[in-house]
Amino acid sequence: MIKIGVTGVGHLGNIHVSQLLHVEGAELSGVFDTDRARGEDVAAKYSCRLFSSFDELLENSDAVDLVTPTPTHYELTRKALQHTKHVFVEKPLCQSVDEAKSLISLAQEAEAVVQVGHVERFNPALIALQETGFKLEPMFIEAHRLAEWNPRGSDVSVILDLMIHDLDIVLSMVDSEAWRVSANGVAVVTSTPDICNARIEFHNGCVANLTASRISMKRMRKMRIFQPDAYITIDFLEKRSEIYSLHDAETAPTDKPPLFKFETADGEKYLHVDAPPVPEVNSIRRELESFVKAIQTRSEPPVTLLDAYASLTIAQDILQKIQPVH
Ligand code: NAD
Repeated sequence: MIKIGVTGVGHLGNIHVSQLLHVEGAELSGVFDTDRARGEDVAAKYSCRLFSSFDELLENSDAVDLVTPTPTHYELTRKALQHTKHVFVEKPLCQSVDEAKSLISLAQEAEAVVQVGHVERFNPALIALQETGFKLEPMFIEAHRLAEWNPRGSDVSVILDLMIHDLDIVLSMVDSEAWRVSANGVAVVTSTPDICNARIEFHNGCVANLTASRISMKRMRKMRIFQPDAYITIDFLEKRSEIYSLHDAETAPTDKPPLFKFETADGEKYLHVDAPPVPEVNSIRRELESFVKAIQTRSEPPVTLLDAYASLTIAQDILQKIQPVH
């Protein structure tokens, strides 16, 4: 059994504790929160041990699950790695690229498994798409991640809080390096951008156009992917995905009729739509299961430190484009 201690049991940490109890191979060693009353509530709710310090939690755990505010991620991850503990740390990994680099070295020295909480990788809509085996070769990606105002998470820009999810997904899909980033954004409520649009160009020609806002009236988390002969939509909020694919008459699926047929210079084309069945997946439980499995098998977790470093590097580039250093 891998003994895991949860640090930070606010909104998301509470959910992590509840899900960890169902993760095979894991045992909840206890919780710690600098807000003692909150820690006591959660320890009582889940009948688990309440540690009085992060050090005490480290002494009694093989791994830590860090669900504290972003500005604390670097210090807590650093300390856990210096105690050679495995770490699950919520997104974003940390606030600066230099911090991320130093955590990569520390993790290598500690030979520890570190997974970052880019939970959208485990969204049922994305899993449904992956399970079809459909090959993604994006050439244009449009993403909208809009949220209503909530002070939680506003200790960092909307880029590090929300857009980072789409950056991580885009980088996991596009098999090429980004070479140019342009962006614009506005700080409306906080002193950092609350709304942002970024355009990321990749060496293979793919362009990703991402919009994130935390001052919207309506929530939306949609990604649209365009590639030769197909258009794919992923609705991370409604947990649904669709593949619109174009076929020649000879290669068109025969098990169902096309949405419609049309003439092109290359002959008749058939447009098919497929909405793959969406599995019943609890994304947080699934990501914690993958963390435990990576520890047990000493393998790479699905979202590595290097993945988080890559999305953070672009996120910081976006921020610099909005707030140029003079
Ligand atoms: P929250 O404010 O509800 O909870 C944070 C908790 O951490 C609080 O109880 C606070 O007392 C405690 N805390 C603060 N500093 C601490 C320290 N040094 N040691 C121990 N405990 C400490 O915040 P939240 O919404 O649960 O967010 C926590 C983290 O989770 C953030 O990094 C956020 O970006 C991330 N998050 C990720 C997602 C996602 O989709 N993956 C969603 C929400 C939040």
